Amino acid sequence: MNLHNCRLCKRPKEYSAFYMCNDCLLELEKVRTYIKKHPFATLEEISLATELSKETIGHIISFFPNTQIKQY
Ligand SMILES: [Zn+2]
Repeated sequence: MNLHNCRLCKRPKEYSAFYMCNDCLLELEKVRTYIKKHPFATLEEISLATELSKETIGHIISFFPNTQIKQY
């Protein structure tokens, strides 16, 4: 079996077309959906809405170079 590490949480995962494990893909989707609905949300607001840490969100956003959010 081909294993590699999830790019977000760094846990080993089974190889798939995605760079991330299922848990992280779900979190990523949550953040993406929120940003789509609230393009001007701050990191703080996204964190509250998605219940993810700002650190995690910052990391997720770094996978989307086109996504710009306010960093305060
Ligand atoms: Zn992961």
